[in-house]
Amino acid sequence: MRTGDEYKEALVKMKPNVIIGGENVGRDDERLQGVIKTISMTFDRADDPEFRDLLSAQSDIVNKEVNRFTHIHQSVEDLLAKQEVTRKLCQQSAGCIFRCMGIDAMNALSIITHRTESMTGRPYHQRFLEYLKFWQENNIVGTCAQTDPKGNRALRPHQQADPDLYLRVVEHRDDGIVVRGAKNHITAAAVAEEIIIVPTRFLTPEEDQYAVAFAVPGDWEGVKLVTRASNFTRQHFECAIGDVGDVENFIIFDDVFVPNDRIFLGGLEGEHVFGGWAATLFALYHRHSYTGCKPATTDLMTGLCALVSEYNGIEDKKHVQSKLAELISVSELVYGTGIAAAYKATKDDSGTMIPDPIFCNVARRHAGKNYYHELETLADLSGGLPATLPLEADFFGEEVGHLLQKYIKRKEDVDATDIYKLFRGISDFLCSSIGGIMAVAGVHGGGSPQMEDIAILKQYDVDTRKAMAKRLAGISDS
Ligand SMILES: Cc1cc2nc3c(=O)[nH]c(=O)nc-3n(C[C@H](O)[C@H](O)[C@H](O)COP(=O)(O)OP(=O)(O)OC[C@H]3O[C@@H](n4cnc5c(N)ncnc54)[C@H](O)[C@@H]3O)c2cc1C
Repeated sequence: MRTGDEYKEALVKMKPNVIIGGENVGRDDERLQGVIKTISMTFDRADDPEFRDLLSAQSDIVNKEVNRFTHIHQSVEDLLAKQEVTRKLCQQSAGCIFRCMGIDAMNALSIITHRTESMTGRPYHQRFLEYLKFWQENNIVGTCAQTDPKGNRALRPHQQADPDLYLRVVEHRDDGIVVRGAKNHITAAAVAEEIIIVPTRFLTPEEDQYAVAFAVPGDWEGVKLVTRASNFTRQHFECAIGDVGDVENFIIFDDVFVPNDRIFLGGLEGEHVFGGWAATLFALYHRHSYTGCKPATTDLMTGLCALVSEYNGIEDKKHVQSKLAELISVSELVYGTGIAAAYKATKDDSGTMIPDPIFCNVARRHAGKNYYHELETLADLSGGLPATLPLEADFFGEEVGHLLQKYIKRKEDVDATDIYKLFRGISDFLCSSIGGIMAVAGVHGGGSPQMEDIAILKQYDVDTRKAMAKRLAGISDS
């Protein structure tokens, strides 16, 4: 299978449409390397016995083994493997591996294109299968651009003062379409080979032009990637977190031509219905992916909380034990509910497995509601030092280094440097730019909390519960 180095080489050949601080940069820019390194892990770990079975899947499309992050889920086992490999890899990368967005979008499209083709006769599914072959043959790194800028939140797409505040088709041609608009908050777009675009919400009959789903290479003509890149760094010691970064993008589609073979929903008459389904299905797969990555983040916070309490000499205290139990209850409930979502999955007519929507949404909701509480627990157990930690240059410096090493001591048998390293790691979660981004992502990634409530309430059978209550209370329907 393709290696991480081959992925990096492909990136370097892309046109420099990544804009950071007013400058167009190539994908070899230093600021992008943290995320590239993390993504490379999803290629290179495929040979590692611990990951081999989880990271590979048998494809009926190309009749060979492919990387899990290019695979369309065919079974409960596929959904479970994706969830497990996401958790395991995220434990190693401080919380994100940047490959779920692309494959979540591909799974959603496998269903939507099939449904649209069956109902309209338009050849979207045939195109999708060809595109899927290209993904699987080349182990493509893709991202998903769903979130439109949205303008005035109280207005629908067609009611906005500027109709471009939701991405839309502005021209239909024989050989394709021209799209205009933007997508914001798009993770990893600057290091993705392909960007998949899907609508952001349910659409009305006036909004067919917004019912558009397609894929373009990341450096396609007219695509501008305005990028915010952040990295954890270390000068004086090696550690895994020092290799980790984050890349978020505001993508502008400046009248972009999309050829027919890359259009999976073309903004044609009556397609608003399929646009809404595409939005919901991507969100659903993405929320299932969160049942893998969020437990991994909580695992890391649990570890940091336990370790700092151990170094401080208070690990066995009652309130510490209770806080650790609370953290574990969050990670394992979210993970367990993701497992339930896989076991309760249904098989779509396209052959793709759809995880249970109630389980996916309640799991994502539970994870989101708890993220800031987890940070609060970490801040509580760590004290103030993550926020006030002296700089590495001083801690390892000549003048005050030995004094700082003396006064940072906690339990006698714990080395001062290890204490410094631990607080530096905690500081990354609590006080850094990436830590802040991860926290907002913990709330909003995959949809704001309200969207999960809506998804739950729309699909949950509350009426049956009301009937149960009536029966118990002796209330008759008449
Ligand atoms: C770090 C990060 C990474 C992300 N990565 C991706 C990605 O890779 N791809 C992608 O497509 N998206 C991504 N997202 C976007 C994410 O899905 C959105 O942030 C989320 O859906 C919320 O949308 P918004 O940011 O526009 O906020 P808003 O929708 O403006 O939400 C703000 C508040 O307004 C409320 N609100 C909004 N509209 C209404 C209304 N009509 N009525 C009542 N209340 C309303 C919301 O409930 C919320 O409380 C990412 C977000 C973050 C933070």
